[in-house]
Amino acid sequence: PPTAPVEALQHDEVAALLPRPAAESDKYKRGVVGLLAGSERYPGAGLLAVAGALHGGAGAVRYQGRAAEEAVRRHPEILLTAGRVQSLVVGPGSGEDTAESLDDALASQVPVLVDADGLTELARRGPRALAGRSAPTLLTPHAGEAARLLGGDASAEQVAAARLRHARELAARYGATVLLKGSTTVVARPDGTARVNSTGTAWLATAGSGDVLAGLIGALLAAGLPPFDAAPVGAYLHGLAGRLAAGSGAPITASDIAAALPAVWRDAA
Ligand code: AMP
Ligand code: MG
Repeated sequence: PPTAPVEALQHDEVAALLPRPAAESDKYKRGVVGLLAGSERYPGAGLLAVAGALHGGAGAVRYQGRAAEEAVRRHPEILLTAGRVQSLVVGPGSGEDTAESLDDALASQVPVLVDADGLTELARRGPRALAGRSAPTLLTPHAGEAARLLGGDASAEQVAAARLRHARELAARYGATVLLKGSTTVVARPDGTARVNSTGTAWLATAGSGDVLAGLIGALLAAGLPPFDAAPVGAYLHGLAGRLAAGSGAPITASDIAAALPAVWRDAA
């Protein structure tokens, strides 16, 4: 792997990358995110991914999980119809639907973000499951999910202790961009190029936090950012949203992170 210094995105780089609707834009041009997330057992993960995508600037969100009734009650903005999407997010709380959802997502020709249950299923299938993809794939594991993806070659503790090395290893093995979550977040590509993000706070370590991030990055992918930009920009905004929500220090919920995104966006733009 390259030994070039790994840098964090700076404020002005993020400002330049943030998608802004053109004067003649419409909701479809801004990007439609498809969410294959939320199941009978984990409806909340789907709802939080919706919140992340909507507050992450999606023109529209097509929700395709089982929590549809609750999702539309909480987020009347969502679409429940099938149709074109510019990105797919598969896995947050996708439970019993995961295998089928992953099949659908990987067969698509749009950028796919695989998280949570989707990563567990992908680990079962191995790197070859991504071999036929024509569009980019982005994997967003935490250390435990990363260890599973590595097939037991490293423990979660070993991954967490050497994030950059393991993110690169995963990216190379799967031929995908990898965002490895933790106290600092590392994004790596198969060629070893990498970026880090440390805008977050330990208050982000709360249930559903990663589901909001998945939806947010899904929106950035739908807007046309390539995975190696969408992932660190998403981590940057998510980290600042956690900071803003927690203030000088307070327990926040994943919903608070999503709710803080517009304010962070205003400051970052
Ligand atoms: P997940 O485990 O999928 O819910 O994702 C957790 C989210 O919280 C990720 O975005 C992590 O980077 C973030 N996070 C977890 N622990 C910390 C920490 N100690 N400091 C900063 N961010 C964290
Ligand atoms: Mg998670």
